Amino acid sequence: MSRILTLSSGNAHKIEEIQAVLDIPLRGLKELPGVPEFEETGVTFEENALIKARGLRDFLNDWALADDSGLAVEALNGAPGVYSARYAGRHGDDAGNNRKLLQELAGVKNRQAGFVCVLALCGPDGNEWVVRGECRGAIQETATGAGGFGYDPLFVPEGHSISFAELVAEVKNSISHRSNALKALLNHPDRPLERFQK
Ligand code: IMP
Repeated sequence: MSRILTLSSGNAHKIEEIQAVLDIPLRGLKELPGVPEFEETGVTFEENALIKARGLRDFLNDWALADDSGLAVEALNGAPGVYSARYAGRHGDDAGNNRKLLQELAGVKNRQAGFVCVLALCGPDGNEWVVRGECRGAIQETATGAGGFGYDPLFVPEGHSISFAELVAEVKNSISHRSNALKALLNHPDRPLERFQK
């Protein structure tokens, strides 16, 4: 049987999307009471992913995976970026974040944006891997769809005409920033995830 890999996140959507791509049993922080909060004090996705993965690796003395992700909007010079989860003030206020984004982009013609996902995998022996995945698209004028999470109702990926929140999960999970980062980790020359797949 495969070993369980722990994701340094309590976000059920992230866990579900990663689990849909990885054939390795995953658990999240909701299944591990007592894990301290790892404060995201970094200014890059890479820094924050490493803070979360290293913190959990040190706490468990075991393998830990972390996902730090967000939306970078061209006309806003890359904002909300690493602050995507707390753009409107309160962490995880998806509705408030979407409202704020639409306000900031009111009247703006350039709607180009990209989702970014950085995954950090840390082993108890000190080995670490950091990979990045992106998905380009555009921000709509209004939110559509009820699937997914976060900015999904506003984001139309390149090559599609409906939002991430309208696409079926299988399609989002085949083109998303998260699945692109996972593919980079699975295909890394070190094959760091193979130990979990045996
Ligand atoms: P993190 O938990 O600090 O990595 O913040 C991630 C935030 O980025 C989420 O709360 C969402 O606002 C946004 N985000 C990341 N990935 C996605 C996605 O796949 N769809 C929509 N929003 C996302």
